[in-house]
Amino acid sequence: MYWGQQKISNLKPHLRSKIVAKHLLMMIRESIFKEVGAKICLEEVITDLKDLEENGILFKGKTVPVTVEFMLGDSLGQHLIGGFIESFSGEFMCRFCVITRQDMKADPLITKEPRTIADYNRCALRAMLTGSHCKGIKATCELNQLKYFHASSHLVPCVAHDCYEGAFSWDMAGIISGFVEKKWFSYKLLNKRIKKFKCVGVDSTNKPAFVPSDGEKLGGHAVQNWTMIRLFYFIIGDKIQNFEDDGWLLYLKLKELSEYFCAPSFKKIDVPYIQDVLLPSYFHLRRTVLPKVEIRPKHHFVAHYPGLMLKYGPLIYIWTLPFEQKHKFFKELMRNTKNFINPEFTCAERQQMYFCLTSLDPMFPDENIESRREDLSANSLSGDLSVFISSLNLIGWSSFPSVVANNGINYKCKDVLILLANDEMSLSIGTLKVIVSKGSHLNFILEVKDANYIAAIGNYEIDLDSSGNFVMVSADSLKYPVPQPVYPIRGKMLFSLKHKILI
Ligand SMILES: [Zn+2]
Repeated sequence: MYWGQQKISNLKPHLRSKIVAKHLLMMIRESIFKEVGAKICLEEVITDLKDLEENGILFKGKTVPVTVEFMLGDSLGQHLIGGFIESFSGEFMCRFCVITRQDMKADPLITKEPRTIADYNRCALRAMLTGSHCKGIKATCELNQLKYFHASSHLVPCVAHDCYEGAFSWDMAGIISGFVEKKWFSYKLLNKRIKKFKCVGVDSTNKPAFVPSDGEKLGGHAVQNWTMIRLFYFIIGDKIQNFEDDGWLLYLKLKELSEYFCAPSFKKIDVPYIQDVLLPSYFHLRRTVLPKVEIRPKHHFVAHYPGLMLKYGPLIYIWTLPFEQKHKFFKELMRNTKNFINPEFTCAERQQMYFCLTSLDPMFPDENIESRREDLSANSLSGDLSVFISSLNLIGWSSFPSVVANNGINYKCKDVLILLANDEMSLSIGTLKVIVSKGSHLNFILEVKDANYIAAIGNYEIDLDSSGNFVMVSADSLKYPVPQPVYPIRGKMLFSLKHKILI
C-alpha cells in the first residue's frame, strides 16, 4: 500500500517529527497503482500541487508559496514513483548515478555520471518508444510536471533503510560472525547479554534485538540495529580479545560512519574526510574482514552519502522513520476495525476524522509541560551547589523535583547533557542538578565535567575527577538537547554518541 503525505519542512525538527505535522495526501494499494498507472492515480494530486505552486496558501493575510521539496521513501518506493526499475538485481539499480551492477560489484565506492534532467528525460522518452527501460528508467515521473521537482534530483535517500536495515545490518552481522568464529563469544552468550542489558533514557524504547546465528543480518528494526551498533561494546566488549583486530577496527569505522550520517549538523570540511578517507578505508578493510558478505546496491548508495549530505543537508532530517508512527496509526486501525472490505477507504476516512479531532486543538500546543513545581530554595541543597544558586539571585524562580518536558523531550535530575566539544578527543558534559523556571523560561543548572574519547573502543568516558563547576543554561539554547544515556561499565561511566558533535 502506498500513501503520501504533505510535510512542512521549515518547521523545527522536533515539530516536524510529530504525527500531527503529517497529513494524508492519498492512499492507494500498490498493486492498483501498478495496474492503473501513475498518470491516472496521481492526476488529482498533481492538479492540487500545481495549484499550490501557482497560488500558495493564504496565512494571516499573506500568500505563502508552497512547493514539493523532496520525496521521502525507501529505495523501492522511490523507484516506483520516480519511474526507475524496481529490481535491484538489474543492470542499473542506482537512481543517483548510471553505474552498472558489474562496476558496483567490483567497487561500490565508484560513482558514475550523475543523473541529470536532460539524460533522465531522454531515457524516459526512449523507454516509452521502445517499451523497455533505458539506463534503469522505464517511465517518466508524474511529479516532474511540477515546477521545482525532478526525479533525477529530488528522490532523497533514507539512512534507516539503506544503512540500518541494509548495509550496516549485513556488515555488522558479518563482523559479529567473525568474532564468533574466533570463539571470542557465542551467539547464545551474545543474546543472553542482550536480554540482560538494561538500556537507559532514549535507548530504552529501542533495545537491540537478538542477533540471528546465521550471520546474515542483525535481528531488529532500523533503530534497534542503530542502538546495537552504538552499544555493542557495552553489551559484550569484555569478550573482545584484541582491540587491534581487523574485525574490531572495521566495527569502529562503521560506528564512525553511522555517527556522521546521523548528525543533526556537520561542517563542510567533514565531507572530504568521509568521502576520501573514512569510506575508502572502510571498504578497503571490509574486503579483508568480510570477503564473503555480498556487496549490494545499498553499499553503493552509501558511497553517494557524502555528496548527498552537501546537496540535502543532514540526512537524519530526511529519513523516513518519523513516518513509521503514521504507519502505526493505520496498522492499529486495521487491527481494531477488523474491516477488510475496503481498507483504503476505512483508513482514509478514519484518518480524516482523527485529523478533524486534532484540529480542534492548536497543532503545536505550549511545549513546556511541567510536572510538580516547588519554590526554589537554595537552603535545601548542599555545599557548592547551594552557594552557586545563591549567587544567581533567582528570587521568584521555581524548581521541578521530577520530570519536566520541553519541546517534546523529557528531562529529570541526573540526566547528562552534551554541551560542547573541547577538541577532537574531549567533550564538556553537564549533569542536570536542578531544573528551574520563571514563567515559561526553563533553565538547567548543570555540573560540568569532561568526557574523554577512548579510541580503542569508540566511546567516551566521563572524567569524574574533572572540574565540577556549575553553570546555568537555558533549555532552548542547548545545541544537543536530548539527554545522553550513560552506562556504568566495569567501574567506568561510559557513553556512546548517537552522532558526531561539532568542534
Ligand atoms: Zn550510484
